[in-house]
Amino acid sequence: MTDLTGRTAVVTGAASGIGAAIATQLADAGASVALVARRQDRLDDLAGKLGPRTIGVSLDVTSQASVDAGVQQIHKRLGRPDLVVNAAGAMLAAPIEDGRLDDWTRMIETNVTGVLRLIQAFTPDLIAAAGEGLTADLVNISSIGAHAIFPGYAVYGATKAALTQLSAALRADLAPYDVRVTNVEPGLTDTELATHLDSSGQDLIASMNEQIGPLAANDIADVVTFAVSRRREVNLRQIIALPTRQA
Ligand code: NDP
Repeated sequence: MTDLTGRTAVVTGAASGIGAAIATQLADAGASVALVARRQDRLDDLAGKLGPRTIGVSLDVTSQASVDAGVQQIHKRLGRPDLVVNAAGAMLAAPIEDGRLDDWTRMIETNVTGVLRLIQAFTPDLIAAAGEGLTADLVNISSIGAHAIFPGYAVYGATKAALTQLSAALRADLAPYDVRVTNVEPGLTDTELATHLDSSGQDLIASMNEQIGPLAANDIADVVTFAVSRRREVNLRQIIALPTRQA
């Protein structure tokens, strides 16, 4: 049985889907966990179920002031994190010919700049923890969309390609400090992600679900829990987890 007792985690995107599943597994394994997203009610509900070592911290990763306030709260209530999981993300169908700069900006702000805000806030903690001989992890949830081409999702794919490249570069930058960096690229997974699409986008995902059979959020959480529970000398740097039928 995985034992993460004594570790302190921050999981963004914990209001639903993959982030909620990761937060749940980390807490069940004994970690203290800050659950982060915008919807405080969802975070409070989940933290209530997971127990007193978990807290719900509402913040919007697209706002620096909101991140600053949330990070302050996490430090005050849980202390120094040694495990940071960036799972918050947005996927919008934004075909280039529609020129939806607002949707493109939202994806870039959430999937790239938002992740960087959390990395900026917590990298000093990860380095300090590793410096004391503790295990320290940065985990980014990218996507198979970083490599595969999905028509109409060019900007989403570009944000995930940026995150995958960022993870690879940060792994090299942080290795001398003994901070591990793990990039996870899920394939089709059954979550709320597609609910932000218009009806034709939702129909497309529904037909993919029917043909391929999506993973469950817990399948991705299994991978993350496995990676962060290796001995500290082992860094699983890149994990692609696909439904068996997804080409
Ligand atoms: P969900 O929509 O269920 O989860 C997204 C989470 O991000 C929610 O908890 C949401 O909570 C949070 N979030 C969104 N915007 C913000 C913001 N501005 N500030 C803070 N939190 C935010 O989808 P998934 O669980 O599927 O997505 C998790 C990650 O997995 C994403 O990065 C996604 O790109 C990636 N992924 C998903 C795949 C899939 O098929 N589902 C495949 C490949 C990758 P709230 O709205 O309360 O803020």
